[in-house]
Amino acid sequence: MRPFTLERPHDIATAVAFGAADDDQTDYIAGGTDMMQLLTDDIRRPGRLVSLGDGVLDDRIEAAPDGALRLGAAARMSDVADHPAVREGFPLIAEALLSSASAQVRNMATVGGNLLQRTRCAYFRDPGVHGCNKRAPGTGCAARDGVNRMLAVLGGSEHCIATHASDFAVPLVALDAVVRLSGPGGERTIPVEELHRLPGDSPHVETVLVPGELITAIEVPASRAARTSHYLKVRDRESFEFALVSAAVALDTDGGRIREARVAMGGVGPKPWRMRGVERALAGAACDPAVLRAAAARAADGTAPRPGNAFKPELMRRTVLRALRVVGGQP
Ligand SMILES: Cc1cc2nc3c(=O)[nH]c(=O)nc-3n(C[C@H](O)[C@H](O)[C@H](O)COP(=O)(O)OP(=O)(O)OC[C@H]3O[C@@H](n4cnc5c(N)ncnc54)[C@H](O)[C@@H]3O)c2cc1C
Ligand code: SF4
Repeated sequence: MRPFTLERPHDIATAVAFGAADDDQTDYIAGGTDMMQLLTDDIRRPGRLVSLGDGVLDDRIEAAPDGALRLGAAARMSDVADHPAVREGFPLIAEALLSSASAQVRNMATVGGNLLQRTRCAYFRDPGVHGCNKRAPGTGCAARDGVNRMLAVLGGSEHCIATHASDFAVPLVALDAVVRLSGPGGERTIPVEELHRLPGDSPHVETVLVPGELITAIEVPASRAARTSHYLKVRDRESFEFALVSAAVALDTDGGRIREARVAMGGVGPKPWRMRGVERALAGAACDPAVLRAAAARAADGTAPRPGNAFKPELMRRTVLRALRVVGGQP
């Protein structure tokens, strides 16, 4: 780890000013569960680290009377997963959080930091590897013809096929959640679905955040579908492992007919991937085995796998079908 200066501001404006002043040399740290790894592995080398502890960001978990949810960015993953309003109103969010990392990590990690964790592509995480456009722009992409079992089949480019590793972000995208941001230009709100960029020819630019901009809160709209929902994560081992493929599914049904379907997938692209083709195939249809199977068959539309992850399209279809069956009460 290289030497750095640690700043400990007590309010958002001061933190933003630090972040905006010298973006390339300044990093924020919240729970530190990802940032500490990036520092110790010499992936990030900031001259200045700005702590978001010390009450800069709030950690409140609040449910509005209509059921909408607001999470302060500093809320811990474990506290959110354990909150009754989340467990009852948004089971897919609780399940996604509980399937992430370990209890110890979840006790430290914040929900804001979770959305901005860096990719788990092994080449990105190894400073000894030369070819990684995300870590060192213009050096190439070792993963395209290397080990890419975990990597993207949707949304990648010839310059990068990394996946975004967050489980929590997947149900947020399915439910049209938004992030509240505070930056040098003031406050704004954007959909979680628009937070992360596709790699294109500049994979090192991962989000639409401007220098210094902070996530201050996450808001999830009230949703009938969310009450009947499931997050299914398929991984190489049952705990403490990132997703090969995951599916967040929520259904609002009325007398055996599907009024509304929400489906998003993780582990398949550089950002959580909303499955609108699957949703369209379900909306208004009967909740029966044939409909669920036909809808799930759309899950892999448009995929472009590499040899090492050619199994993913079929795994995507099966994962969505299994999640739909759980939510739809089908055998
Ligand atoms: C062993 C291990 C296993 C894991 N397994 C999983 C898993 O299965 N699923 C999963 O989803 N995650 C997993 N994770 C990732 C973990 O969930 C993240 O490390 C954690 O959520 C990050 O939160 P943090 O508060 O510790 O962020 P930090 O490490 O402090 O920061 C992460 C990044 O976010 C930035 N940042 C933090 N907060 C803000 C903010 N409010 N505004 C702007 N920028 C901010 C930081 O600058 C940094 O770039 C795992 C992590 C570890 C170490
Ligand atoms: S997939 Fe992206 S993160 Fe991985 S080696 Fe290629 S450029 Fe780097």
